[in-house]
Amino acid sequence: MPPNAALQASPARALHWFRNDLRLADNPAMARSAQAGEVVFVFVDETDASLRPRGAASRWWLHHSLAALQHAITAMGGTFLILRGASETIIPAVAAALSCDLVTWNRRYGAAERTLDTRIKAALKDGGVEALSFNGSLLYEPMEIRTQAGGPMRVFTPFWRACRALRDPLPPIAAPARLPGLSPAMQGLAQGVPLEALGLLPTQPDWSGGLARTWVPGEAGARERLNAFLDGPILGYAANRDRPDIESTSKLSPHLAFGEISPRQIWHATRSRADAGALRAQGNDIEKFFSEIGWREFAHHLMFHFPDLATRNYQPRFDAFPWQDAPEKLRAWQRGMTGYPMVDAGMRELWQTGFMHNRVRMIVASFLIKHLMIDWRQGEAWFWDTLVDADAANNPASWQWVAGSGADAAPYFRIFNPFGQGERFDTQGHYVRRFVPEIAGLPDQFVHRPWEAPAGVLKQAGVVLGKTYPAPIVAHEAARERALAAFKGLT
Ligand code: FAD
Repeated sequence: MPPNAALQASPARALHWFRNDLRLADNPAMARSAQAGEVVFVFVDETDASLRPRGAASRWWLHHSLAALQHAITAMGGTFLILRGASETIIPAVAAALSCDLVTWNRRYGAAERTLDTRIKAALKDGGVEALSFNGSLLYEPMEIRTQAGGPMRVFTPFWRACRALRDPLPPIAAPARLPGLSPAMQGLAQGVPLEALGLLPTQPDWSGGLARTWVPGEAGARERLNAFLDGPILGYAANRDRPDIESTSKLSPHLAFGEISPRQIWHATRSRADAGALRAQGNDIEKFFSEIGWREFAHHLMFHFPDLATRNYQPRFDAFPWQDAPEKLRAWQRGMTGYPMVDAGMRELWQTGFMHNRVRMIVASFLIKHLMIDWRQGEAWFWDTLVDADAANNPASWQWVAGSGADAAPYFRIFNPFGQGERFDTQGHYVRRFVPEIAGLPDQFVHRPWEAPAGVLKQAGVVLGKTYPAPIVAHEAARERALAAFKGLT
């Protein structure tokens, strides 16, 4: 009999460890534990020193996502424990205290997380506990996709082609019909802490009002977001996805980052709507959408094979780049006070809602790296703290893409023109007027370049440059030339 056969039949008592898989449907690890006679669901607010601490916006999201999950589990009669501390000691200790014979989790792909998981698995096995891990967050795991020579993929197009050639994404699995809770005899043996004790929400000041007005964290919120996308913006997605002035994309990224929805669910929901004829998306709308999910897969592939993605240039020649130490300019960028309306609108959207449209992320990142010549890692860190979708793979991979230092990155000489991009993708200025109201009165012609407006036009719009709205903190052409010269100096 294979060693796991008895457990495959029915473990007596199991523990499922929730991490970035905060959902009940299409959760393979949780579904496995739910087959046990009794199951305890655990979330650990991990304090292990090797892990990157979450940013403030992610902590806000996590609080609400855990509240939703706790509600869903207890409503079905399940037992959910929230714990705080080093997962390396907590997970084996709780499994032992409750005499569990099975522990399950869905895999994570960062280097520190993998090391930790390997050690925890070994500790559990030493204690006679079976530990099973599953793929709960990707369509294709990094170890499945390789070059012909057996190495990691470094270019997106062949990577995505190889994924698609491997197989269609597996169909999602249903949420368990029942969640067998712990028996009363067991319940006193492991105590959790109240969610509030994790202190995830901001206080003094509470800056989260804009986030609360924008998002519904949790599995039900994720499902609603997907349905809203499939009822609307998917039509025309390929043509419109670069426009920040309309609802043009899915906004599923924070739900994906916390695992409130899986890419398999998104994939198959989109496909089945299309197959049923209910989705009359034009041309390549669906393929374009899937390929964006593919970029998420690619970022995870890169992080798995190049674990220092968030801290080191993927291309070492960028190590010699003469980054500037410019704290005041960095602060102006962070606060949306650069004098370039498109950059400022993006940075204020981020501050107010915890999100920024992808096109605008590229514009603000290019501005920081190229116009201000500030190290991309400072921008990555700011995004990590302020984005609700802050993602350990997508964030550094995207920053390195813009910097030109990454795998399959934009060429270094591609320097976004912040007002040209604004005029192209926010033609009538709706987006900048929403987030930079002090220039809302300017006519379309000048709303992306207020410094060119004649004095009379500024006066009529109530704009005093340098007073009610900043004059540009750097001159575009000169900054561009400076950056090009610096990048050319790299060998
Ligand atoms: P949609 O257009 O609806 O796309 C669907 C999904 O595909 C997204 O939810 C996301 O999971 C994935 N996706 C889309 N574009 C990309 C991309 N370029 N790279 C990787 N995955 C993608 N995305 C994050 O999830 N977390 C981050 O921390 C993050 N940081 C970024 C930093 C910079 C500088 C840049 C330029 C991009 C960053 N992105 C990040 C990628 C992208 O901007 C967001 O995923 C996207 O804006 C999310 O909006 P959406 O869900 O409406 O996307």
